[in-house]
Amino acid sequence: MQATAAVLREVNEPMVIETVELDELQEDEVLVAVKGAGICHTDMTVMDGTLPIPLPTVLGHEGAGIVEKVGSAVTNVAPGDHVVLSFGHCRECDVCTSGRPAYCELFAPLNYFGTRLDGTVTLHQGDEDVHGNWFQQSSFASHAIAKAANTVKVADDVPVELLGPLGCGFQTGAGTVLKVLQPKAGQSIAIFGLGGVGLAALMAAKAVGCDPIVAIDTNPERLELSKELGATHTFDPKEHHDLLWDIQQVTASGLDFSFETVGTGPIVRQALEVLRSPGHAASVGFRGLENVIEIDQGHLMLGRRLSGVIEGDADPQTFIPEMIDLYRDGRFPFDRLIEKFSIEQINEAVQASIDGRVIKPVVVFD
Ligand SMILES: [Zn+2]
Ligand SMILES: [Zn+2]
Repeated sequence: MQATAAVLREVNEPMVIETVELDELQEDEVLVAVKGAGICHTDMTVMDGTLPIPLPTVLGHEGAGIVEKVGSAVTNVAPGDHVVLSFGHCRECDVCTSGRPAYCELFAPLNYFGTRLDGTVTLHQGDEDVHGNWFQQSSFASHAIAKAANTVKVADDVPVELLGPLGCGFQTGAGTVLKVLQPKAGQSIAIFGLGGVGLAALMAAKAVGCDPIVAIDTNPERLELSKELGATHTFDPKEHHDLLWDIQQVTASGLDFSFETVGTGPIVRQALEVLRSPGHAASVGFRGLENVIEIDQGHLMLGRRLSGVIEGDADPQTFIPEMIDLYRDGRFPFDRLIEKFSIEQINEAVQASIDGRVIKPVVVFD
């Protein structure tokens, strides 16, 4: 079995479109014809060397497509099913069985090591190993090998090529709001950073009736879009000498919730300080394996919470269908964030994301 794939051979070099050979399926694996794969910030942290993984590799961890073949022990999907691929998790450890697979004990080896747990690789070029298994999928390719656990069956009345980002970026934003912060209608929230993750969080906040919704970003076009998607107040930090004070004035006493996607010390601190007392801030921005930040413990004392969140702390097997239901109802219009590229344009698509021209590039296959 062969696939056309975008292969990363060296950091800070473009990916190259090449033919790779796929391994035989193991009993718990699924072969998926990829129809679309979103480009996520975590892919870029490998491309620029922030997150070191074995090379050559095929990245891509927001894949969606149609099942072609399943291993002998797979029961949750069958050939012909439309599926979204999410992060790898075991569904057997204490953490997974308590309903929090984003913190699976095997998260790192399943998603980052470039091999199966038995040490074999899923992709080859002749005698050379190509490290697949990136988030149990490596979906910047026409075909991907996933596990039953991270393959989520979805309805076939929605465009499958657009659904991949529900497996990571949009799940991170929407899941953090709906599963971790859990605001009620009429409660206030601030969103720092309006990329795909931040705007998914904003749409989820709008879907549950948050009001006011405060959006903060330095890109004027994204501030405009955030208003169309539900922001009641927008702030460009470049235009506010005392941003915190100005945000706090939106309500009399500060905000109930905040969500930040940037991950730098000053922004995490702002997300904490705009809160009322008590309040809850979530941090999802990733800045490398070590990222020491400084906060004022006095700000936490006021009954405030600061949570670090991966993948929205959601179970993709149930949460991805929930997001699709919201989309069908018109309450989660994530397709407005997407722009399609061909696999040959993948390096352009990455650059468009880095430059801020495109919010969520998705590589599509015919
Ligand atoms: Zn687990
Ligand atoms: Zn991601």
